[in-house]
Parts: sequence; C-alpha cells; structure tokens
Amino acid sequence: MTAANVEPVEILAFGPHPDDVELGCGGALAALAQRGTSFGIVDLTRGEMGTRGTPEIRAREAAEAARILGARFRTNLDLGDGDLRTDRAAQRLVVEVVRRSRPRLVLAPLGADRHPDHVRANRLVADASWYAGLSKLETGLAPHRPDQVVFYAAYVLVPPTFLVDVSAAFATKLAALRAHRSQFHDPNSGEPETYVSSRGFFEGIEARARALGRIANVEYAEGFIANVPPTLADPVAAFLGYEGGKKA
Ligand SMILES: [Zn+2]
Repeated sequence: MTAANVEPVEILAFGPHPDDVELGCGGALAALAQRGTSFGIVDLTRGEMGTRGTPEIRAREAAEAARILGARFRTNLDLGDGDLRTDRAAQRLVVEVVRRSRPRLVLAPLGADRHPDHVRANRLVADASWYAGLSKLETGLAPHRPDQVVFYAAYVLVPPTFLVDVSAAFATKLAALRAHRSQFHDPNSGEPETYVSSRGFFEGIEARARALGRIANVEYAEGFIANVPPTLADPVAAFLGYEGGKKA
C-alpha cells in the first residue's frame, strides 16, 4: 500500500473494487465535496480478476475518477480480487488507513451483494473500523474510532435509513464512472461484454438514483443504510419539499 498520500479527512469511503465507491456513493461524495467536506477513497483490491481492463489501466482510471469526484486521496490495499483477504494482516492494513485518515464517517459496501468480495469487504471494514479505536492494538499510530460506519448499496434494493440528494452532483458521478472506460458500456470496445459493461447496467444507475430521488421529490438521490438512526439537527429542514413547495 502507498500510505504516503493518506491524510486526515472527514469521510473515508471503502470499495472492494476500483469502481464500487463511484457506483455506490460517488454522488454523495461529490455533493459533500462541493460543500467543502473532505473525503478519501480506499480500494481494497486492484480488480485484477475483472474480465475487462488490467490492474494498470484500472489504476489510471481510478485516479482520474477520484480527481473528478474531488477526493483528497485514493489508495489501494491490494488484498486480492476474487478472494478478498479478511485475515489479521488485512484487518491491520484497514486499521492503519483508518488511523492515518481519522474519518468521522466510514462508508462501506452493504453485506448483501451478488459479489462475494463485497460481502467480505463489508465485514472487514466494519470490524477494522471498530478495532482501530482499541488503544492496546499497537500499530505505531494513535487509536481512532469513526463515529459510524454507514453502508451503501449499488445492487440490491434495500430500504435506505437516509437519503442524500445528489441532484447537483449527479453529472459528476456519471463523469467519474465514465472515467472507468475499461469497465462500463463502450460500443467501440473489443473486450467481452459483462454484466457491468452492458448498456442496461449504465441505464440502471440513473434509474436507481431517479427512483430514490422520487421519495424525496428531488431529481437524484443515493440511499444509505445505517445500523442506528442518524440524529437530525432539523427534522423540518430534512423533509422540506417532499410534498412540493419551496425548497430552502
Ligand atoms: Zn465490486
């Protein structure tokens, strides 16, 4: 891992593969960055088992996507695509990146997913985010426990605990996804078509964000799942415009 560029941020988003953060929470991250919230991205694998692209191509695409979203850094723990490691050494790497970046909020994939690496990543990140706060776990870095680990879903439909309005950032999310040229729909690509590279998959990203947006009467939203309910500073503001009328 290249930890040199990891710096303190308010949000740390983990993805099993180099495009999962963009898919699951890229809109929310871009929207928050537009308002000055800092975030970093940690990819757990290089996506070397992917049908399309190579680890080198994917690293370049991931760096470009991170720049588009406004990330402070993007790093890769290289834990093995297709058999994502969750052993003690892997846990330790996640603990170290949490302690270096000291986020208030960690974003991780939901445990219910079609890809086994996503299921493993869910457990690994949730566990290590907790262990990072144990003072007797010596890593040479100060202990730090994020306030919460919140989960994003990009595949299954799970009722979200809360929504983030990403209307103003949705074009940025799509631009970041398109930076992953080797992965998504490209009619000129000679590589084999996959579930993710089909035209329908990309259309589904928009359909999903639109469907979630309808709940809040906004154009596009992303949904997040938390183990505990968030505290709203202002419930009136939180539901403003749901039934029409003027937005603040
Ligand atoms: Zn993935």
